[in-house]
Amino acid sequence: MDLKGMIREIQDFPKEGINFKDITTILKDGAAFTYVIDKLAAQLEDLEVDVIVGPEARGFIVGTPVAYKLGKAFVPIRKPGKLPAETVKYEYELEYGTDALEVHKDAIKPGQRVAILDDLLATGGTVLATAKLIEELGGTVVSLNFLIELTFLRGRETLKDYQVKTLVSYN
Ligand code: AMP
Repeated sequence: MDLKGMIREIQDFPKEGINFKDITTILKDGAAFTYVIDKLAAQLEDLEVDVIVGPEARGFIVGTPVAYKLGKAFVPIRKPGKLPAETVKYEYELEYGTDALEVHKDAIKPGQRVAILDDLLATGGTVLATAKLIEELGGTVVSLNFLIELTFLRGRETLKDYQVKTLVSYN
């Protein structure tokens, strides 16, 4: 399946200089969407994962079907103020200012084996923050899986302590 050929690229979105990788062109094709989910799920075979974790919003799109396919739990990671129960927060640096992510305090049991899924690996900041949250709750991050990797942003260096797998990369 030519996934790269199916991913739409939008120049200067959401701001100048960004070449946005739009996966809605894969999602709207049933065969392609199924192929992607099956491939991501296959990467997690043999890892004895207990929980799939996905950061909002596109981490939900790829994470929940993989969790369902493997018969595993799904835990959402959200921007501050969105989760209703008691949360743990992780703040991280952006080029200008800071950002933060939250998870429910009771979402992960100590010792659970976690895979984090997202649509795209850019700098790795989002998924590193997600991994830190999981570890704060006592979970073990065993895999980071993405549909797309922008290799020139060197996210793998940021995520060097983890196993990273991607389906399509742009150099
Ligand atoms: P990062 O934390 O830098 O790895 O950024 C990853 C997050 O930002 C992912 O959740 C992506 O959905 C989004 N993102 C960053 N760069 C792009 C891009 N060029 N095209 C589409 N989404 C992007």
